[in-house]
Amino acid sequence: MRLANIVDRFALITPDDQAVDVSRASGGRFSPRIQDCYERWDELLAAAPDLHRAQGRPLTEVRPHEVGNPAPQPRQVFAIGLNYADHAAEAGLAVPEDLTVFTKFASSLTGPYGTIALPPGTVDWEVELVVVLGRGGRNIPAETAWDHVAGLSVGQDLSERTMQSAGPAPQYSLAKSFPGFGPIGPFLVTPDEFEDPDIIELSCSVNGEQVQKGTTASMVFPVPEIIARLSRVATLLPGDVIFTGTPPGVGVGRSPQRFLAPGDELVTAIEGIGEMRHRLS
Ligand code: ZN
Repeated sequence: MRLANIVDRFALITPDDQAVDVSRASGGRFSPRIQDCYERWDELLAAAPDLHRAQGRPLTEVRPHEVGNPAPQPRQVFAIGLNYADHAAEAGLAVPEDLTVFTKFASSLTGPYGTIALPPGTVDWEVELVVVLGRGGRNIPAETAWDHVAGLSVGQDLSERTMQSAGPAPQYSLAKSFPGFGPIGPFLVTPDEFEDPDIIELSCSVNGEQVQKGTTASMVFPVPEIIARLSRVATLLPGDVIFTGTPPGVGVGRSPQRFLAPGDELVTAIEGIGEMRHRLS
């Protein structure tokens, strides 16, 4: 099943890319507010086949300018650093023995298309698989962790490297939370749509040149292990967002280093989900 945020309402996306508004097709049984749908994820999953078949279902074309972030109101945003060994190496850091966790503050989240303003400094790209939770919990075993995932989306963990590395301790959370630094989209795809949800290709390009290409099979902590370890500490909640880390190829790890400039076009893509397209200004 694929879903999308269409003008701030949840929509099921048909195989031929038509949108079925969840709230209208259910006769108001489900709220148009996307976060409310995550709170009732199991019910929504059960109802989805009927919503697809609903008589007189309100079908609309998916227009890119109407597509937003499919997880727009998370109560918690987790982000995992150094989760690919080759990326840790290019950052000159050791592969961590436990999760390296920070947040991207919710105000940094944005949709899959549009313009992002560059603040002063050195802004870098990081393609990431984004996990959105449908069921929360504590002490979730890795063996059943995929059952807690509502869906997967494409994420970009934009990072201002100068602030990130200044000071005695890393400033990951703040340096990765400028407005627009957390794009997510264009679709939320349920894990069952993937041949193997632990092996997904992801890539990123700048002005048509591919700068990152990797597979989630290379993660130090795969998605189920991330959920298990986070939930040993924090209570996870429906609608929570997890940025799961980036493969190698970021600008700060290049020689010479390379950062985003006004006018650049950033394309962030994940196999089986789609691609996001942003212009930097
Ligand atoms: Zn990252």
